[in-house]
Amino acid sequence: MQFKKVIGNSALKQRLIAQVSENRISHAQLFEEREGSGAIALALAYAQYVNCLQRSASDSCGTCSSCLKFEKLQHPDLHFIFPTATTKEITKNPSSAQFFQQWTEALKSNPYLSLNAWVEALGTENKQVIINTRDSQDIIQKLSLRSYEALRKIILIWLPEKMNGDSANKLLKTLEEPDENTLLLLITQDIDALLPTILSRVQLIKVPKPSEAEIAEGLTERYHFSATAAAAASLLCEGDVNRALELANGNEDEDFYISNFQNWMRYCYTANVMDIAAWVDAVATIGRERQKNIAEYGLRFFRECLVRNYGSGLNMLHEKEAPFLEKFSPFIHGGNIVLLTEAFEELHQQISRNANPKITFMNLSLNVSKMLKLKAEF
Ligand SMILES: [Zn+2]
Repeated sequence: MQFKKVIGNSALKQRLIAQVSENRISHAQLFEEREGSGAIALALAYAQYVNCLQRSASDSCGTCSSCLKFEKLQHPDLHFIFPTATTKEITKNPSSAQFFQQWTEALKSNPYLSLNAWVEALGTENKQVIINTRDSQDIIQKLSLRSYEALRKIILIWLPEKMNGDSANKLLKTLEEPDENTLLLLITQDIDALLPTILSRVQLIKVPKPSEAEIAEGLTERYHFSATAAAAASLLCEGDVNRALELANGNEDEDFYISNFQNWMRYCYTANVMDIAAWVDAVATIGRERQKNIAEYGLRFFRECLVRNYGSGLNMLHEKEAPFLEKFSPFIHGGNIVLLTEAFEELHQQISRNANPKITFMNLSLNVSKMLKLKAEF
């Protein structure tokens, strides 16, 4: 993640950059935020900047071999510790390492990840997530390894306040014996719950809430929301970027879904792989809520097509939908409606489970192309 992709907080970004250019990087830094301010995104941008091979005075390059691995969250020297809980699959001694894939998927889909969203992605029924002793043992082990290739090995600990006592004491030991090739980045939302002995060994970085204007700009430029949806959301979100994203999703104009879906179906019908790939690339950036809304919109539209075909004449449609419905509905019939419905329900579930949106939408597009060619059965 580059600094320019993190919403707001430009003064803090400058301070973090100055630490690097003046070569006074503290080995352990505690980012304190109120949920939704973007501390994980900032910490990731900072870690990437520290390790970038061609950094400028304002940002990491985003293209060097180190940046490319950081962007994918798959650098061998980037380690994460975060709260976990038992699940159906992992029934005892859960640790961050076992949930690495869910974690990186969740973070890639939303670098402003909230605790609630993480608990949901974990798929646990146990809401009491904690950082277990085993995680602290892992930190110690990771610290003992030499870095593979990074200038500085990064250990990012999300919500250290969720450590159990044993775990916190072990962490303390690692903070007492700093290693100049390692950078420990801790992100807290409840500083009062941390041991004073931990606080005395870290440099505190307060992450302010981004301003209303910064959030509005972030929503339009980073997430491609309409200016009206972004303005209303930024006004009501109280500085919480997650809340802003939710509100903007709720405010998003119906036109957005109408035109996206119509284009998609045209590309599937003509089976033009270049057009489909470009559409998939764009839709991969709009966030999971709007991706799910496209799936829901599709399910509704297919039903409208059937209603029209069977002549009940009671379509409740937006005026922008009628001409497309006229042309498209003959291709929706008894021969494919069950397949299409199942495929779009599956799409909704896969997106909810943080599946890779590019792969999911691409596979579905190719299947839809075939389904639209099936013979009508009435
Ligand atoms: Zn770079």
